[in-house]
Amino acid sequence: MTHSDDPAFLTVPQKKKFLLELNEANAKLFEQGEDERLKFFIEGNSVFGAFPCGDGRTHHLSVMTKTSPGIIKIIPSLGGLFKIGWPNLQKEVMNWMRRNKAEDKCSVLITTYHFSKGSKARCCAGFNGDTQKALAAALDFRKELELLFGKNNNTIVITIGIETDSDSFILHGEDHHKTLDLFLLAEHQSKPAQVLSEIIRLLPSMRNDVARDLLMLLMGNLRHIQEVKASGRKPENSHHQESVIFMGKNFGWLNHPNTALLISTLPLNITKQATKALSVMHSNIEHGRIRHEWIFMPCASYDGNDKTGISKRGAEFRTKEFTNFFMNILTKQFPKRLADKMHLMETIFNEEDRRITVI
Ligand SMILES: [Zn+2]
Repeated sequence: MTHSDDPAFLTVPQKKKFLLELNEANAKLFEQGEDERLKFFIEGNSVFGAFPCGDGRTHHLSVMTKTSPGIIKIIPSLGGLFKIGWPNLQKEVMNWMRRNKAEDKCSVLITTYHFSKGSKARCCAGFNGDTQKALAAALDFRKELELLFGKNNNTIVITIGIETDSDSFILHGEDHHKTLDLFLLAEHQSKPAQVLSEIIRLLPSMRNDVARDLLMLLMGNLRHIQEVKASGRKPENSHHQESVIFMGKNFGWLNHPNTALLISTLPLNITKQATKALSVMHSNIEHGRIRHEWIFMPCASYDGNDKTGISKRGAEFRTKEFTNFFMNILTKQFPKRLADKMHLMETIFNEEDRRITVI
């Protein structure tokens, strides 16, 4: 399974170069996608926010929907569990919702779970591979969001399952037992009008204009499923193969599938997130799914427009603190051989041009 273009098997200097090039390519893509994003935000009536598991196979939703980075706001939590009572998460979601309301957009909140058709071992580790539990957690979070924000014309919460062998979506209806399996639709080369009528059938309360915006994401997923199929990607290659642990908020550029585990600072228990990420990394190494070395990349963000430099210096302090926090868990709770194989890549993220700098 070793091949030269697979990030899991690059040497550390090669991998660092790969990460910097990936960031640069995405920053350029973001600049080029400005028109698509503007068109979407001006012409579309909805904005999307998704809550995926932070494992490397599920958070690259822009790739899976073939949309420009930034069209879907992604809030990950490693292990797939979300609670709207987590203060930082709630603050983030509320600020986002407030902005959407001010711009008169409908907020579509997407709770997700993930699984593999082919193997329980490739299902979500956060639920010990139990997909029913993963689905139940996504539905519970949907209920929490509905209770908080209410069911109205300007907010809708939906649930999507992600099948990671094929990267296909399963859209759940308002009655969650009713579903639309995009893998099957891709086989039948479904037309947009058919998909739209299915969306309306499953989600009768959704405004028609919002359903049309959602259609764009689903049609993108259909195209992506066909591309994955044509690429001949083997399902067993969609086993955990992450060789980077990223800690921070702005990871949208890190969208190469199965490359990075994300530790978000939004869940209440960040220690748990870090422990989970380290357990997966440990297992990736022990099972030979990646080369022996791995990278920890803490990355705080700063406002690139702040000419005083305070925001940038503040981010450097936060990045260093991420390292202290993480190293404490790594050295106290995991075998020394895991720490010995870690390489540190401390970075800061410029929110303006979306580029990272190694500090
Ligand atoms: Zn997961």
